[in-house]
Order: sequence, then C-alpha cells, then structure tokens
Amino acid sequence: MKLPILILIAYVLVTSLPASAQDRYAENRKEMVDRQLKERGITDKNTLHVLGTIPRHEFVHEDLIPAAYTDQALAIGNGQTISQPYIVALMTQELDLRPNDRVLEIGTGSGYQAAVLSKMVDSVYTIEIIEELARSATVRLKRLGYDNVVVRWGDGYHGWPSNSPFDAIIVTAGADSIPQPLIDQLKDGGRIVIPVGPTNLVRQLVKLTKKKGKILSKNLIPVRFVPFTRKSIRIDKNNK
Ligand code: SAH
Repeated sequence: MKLPILILIAYVLVTSLPASAQDRYAENRKEMVDRQLKERGITDKNTLHVLGTIPRHEFVHEDLIPAAYTDQALAIGNGQTISQPYIVALMTQELDLRPNDRVLEIGTGSGYQAAVLSKMVDSVYTIEIIEELARSATVRLKRLGYDNVVVRWGDGYHGWPSNSPFDAIIVTAGADSIPQPLIDQLKDGGRIVIPVGPTNLVRQLVKLTKKKGKILSKNLIPVRFVPFTRKSIRIDKNNK
C-alpha cells in the first residue's frame, strides 16, 4: 500500500476514536430520553436535547456505569445520590432557563445537574457541603470541559452573595423550609425549584417565582431527596 493511503487510514482511525468511545452510550441516552422523559411529559426541547447529550456515565462510580441511564437515583459516595434522570429533567424544565441566565445550584453532588445547566445558560455557580464531593466534582467538571461552572465547598443555606442576584436557583437536597438568603438573592422574575417539607421521606417539589417582590408558589410533585444539612461535613472513609 502506498504511504499516503496508510497515512489517510491512520488519520481516520485516530480521529474516529474519541467519538466512538463517547457514542457507546448514545443509544442508552436516547432510550432514557424517549422512555423516561418524553413519555412522562417532559416537553422542553432544550432540556430533552441536553439530557440526550450529557455523558451521565461519567458522573457515577465505575461499578455503576451499566446502571447510569436507568430510571433511578444512584449512590455517589458519602451517603449521597445523583437524582433519577426524570427528576433532573423536571427540575431543569421548571427553571424556565434562558441562555443569558446566571444560575445557582445548592447540592453539587456528582456535578451532573450542574453539567446539564452549563449547557443551557451562561454561568452556573454550585455549592456542595461535603468537601470530598466538592473536590471530586470540580475535577470531573474540569476534565469534561464544563468551563462555565464554578464549584464551591460550603453551606449553601447562605447562597452566594458575591455572585448574586440569580435568574434561577435549584436546590437538589430536601429542605425543611426555604432558606431566606436564597429568596433574597433571586432577581425579580427569577425562579427557585426546591424539594421542601417537614419529613425526611417524601417532600414536595416546589417552584417559586419572584414577581414584584412577592413570592408565588406552585407544588409540582412529591419527591424523595437526601436531606439538606447545615454543617460542612468531612466523612472519613469508614463512614461512607
Ligand atoms: N445535584 C447532584 C445530586 C445532589 S444530592 C448531582 O447532580 O449529582 C444532594 C447534595 O446536596 C449532596 O451532595 C449533599 O451533600 C448536598 N447538600 C446537602 N445540604 C447542603 C447544603 N446545606 N449546602 C450545600 N450542599 C448540600
């Protein structure tokens, strides 16, 4: 075979590698979007598109990769979970995002929800109370190229005053009540989506909208979430 042909073949092989590696899960993602999201009433085109492209398998532990696109929440270590795809989609859709929005997330966890948001808006700020998770999500988001996400370790109860006000705020841990600082850091016309309720088991997913200083509230669906906590936790390895 002539040298130019060999070079051409080598070039095609090399350039096709990363795409095929990513596409291993393209079918799983499509099925997830069709069965779990569209069939259950998620209609926002952008939300459906983005969940169909983000590599969810990159956000779970190696052992759970085969389950990454299944219809359930999955453990991410330190007693926490990455939400079921349907819940991620519903919360994202209800935020009514626009491309220029600045969004705050409380509860970074694996970084998956933040990655979804990063493809829909200009800037995403996300706070995680468990140091180990904050650190691993920072590394993961950077490695995967989600450059418009900033992760911080701390108690999200206080929001992120220096980057406020926000167009939208999403809380991905179940709270007893809505933290006042988050309401204060919301723009007029802004939206908050948060699971709230007095018990650890089932809470209401609530959407709040700020209109001329007033807060309008709408119940979405009952949900289960890991609890919103108030202390910055360092969990040792035996306690996972
Ligand atoms: N959004 C995440 C899943 C979050 S699970 C994802 O896509 O993977 C809820 C997360 O909220 C947990 O990681 C938990 O540690 C965190 N959390 C709980 N209370 C918090 C608080 N007060 N401030 C910031 N993070 C908190």
